[in-house]
Amino acid sequence: MMGEAKENDVYEEELLDYEEDDDKALDASSAKPAADAAQAKKGYVGIHSSGFRDFLLKPELLRAIQDCGFEHPSEVQHECIPQAILGMDVICQAKSGMGKTAVFVLSSLQQIDPTAGQVAALVLCHTRELAYQICNEFERFSKFLPELKVAVFYGGVHIKKHQDLLKNDCPHIVVGTPGRILALARDKDLSLKNVRHFILDECDKMLESLDMRRDVQEIFKMTPHDKQVMMFSATLSKEIRPICKKFMQDPMEIYVDDEAKLTLHGLVQHYIKLTESEKNRKLNDLLDALDFNQVVIFVKSVSRAAELNKLLCECNFPSICIHSGMTQEERLTRYKNFKEGHKRILVATDLVGRGIDIERVNIVINYDMPDSADTYLHRLEGLGVLAPRGLP
Ligand code: ADP
Repeated sequence: MMGEAKENDVYEEELLDYEEDDDKALDASSAKPAADAAQAKKGYVGIHSSGFRDFLLKPELLRAIQDCGFEHPSEVQHECIPQAILGMDVICQAKSGMGKTAVFVLSSLQQIDPTAGQVAALVLCHTRELAYQICNEFERFSKFLPELKVAVFYGGVHIKKHQDLLKNDCPHIVVGTPGRILALARDKDLSLKNVRHFILDECDKMLESLDMRRDVQEIFKMTPHDKQVMMFSATLSKEIRPICKKFMQDPMEIYVDDEAKLTLHGLVQHYIKLTESEKNRKLNDLLDALDFNQVVIFVKSVSRAAELNKLLCECNFPSICIHSGMTQEERLTRYKNFKEGHKRILVATDLVGRGIDIERVNIVINYDMPDSADTYLHRLEGLGVLAPRGLP
């Protein structure tokens, strides 16, 4: 309510266009520095609150995951890994970069008990580059499984090399493109009779091309009936889904739609319920008490951004503001100014939330509560604790 400011205290002044007079929460969210991690853990809030540990993976895999720097499973990993490690068939569509590869890499490594001379998993994909990359992922995650051998086979390499490898040092996991795999299998260099996990990456690419589909089918027929089939793709049209499912038995279907929510990990969140007239005082106390590198303060309108910034500057806080009332050029200059660390406090409207990525920001204050969960998440993007659509 206007006019509640007391004792001429600037911090108790109100911002101009305040419309409602009911209580509002002042919300401070901070990404804790590493040293505080243990303590911060108690306060972890996440849409996905579990970690890789909860999947009950082999310790060797957990170590490798840690070494790879994966802290939290991505959305697809959350959805797929628990079932995939039980041997269920899986069909999964999620945009590239969401961590699909680790789903089949980790779940096969978890299930395979390497037996000399037996290929236990076969991964097919449509390009040599992808095959090579997948093989690398297997190697990365099997770092602490010294017995386990992976090999990649594709055309353009002398087939003799592959034949020799299969004869002398048979891998437990084979990654490859359909043409070369079929050639090796037909000639009995590659035995598929022990395959327990049959995986297609970018499955639509392989099944849409009729030539490749024929090869895949022929390879498939050489594998035992009883096995796990997993298929992944960034795109899976309605037409191709039934074709994929012909290879599977009652698969678990995971489609992560493109508008899927952001996920939130490793963030400590606090809120304080305050009346409008209490906000400035509290903000002042917080800015004095918190140990921040840079802070972003979100407000709900252009005029409130300008007003709060003015107030902070008057009180000698190194503050700058950006809002939609400014030209693009002005906004960019100010953004740069803040990003380069010339100012430590940024007052902004939601316009700035999306796409802000400033490493030094470790605290976000929602001076005005966002109007939706999505806005809230977008406001936090700059903290680096969010990953678009599931990648931590
Ligand atoms: P997709 O197969 O869906 O295209 P990738 O498996 O290639 O995605 O993952 C993209 C990148 O993200 C890779 O560099 C991968 O190592 C990394 N990544 C995957 N899962 C995680 C995770 N949980 N945490 C951190 N990085 C991850």
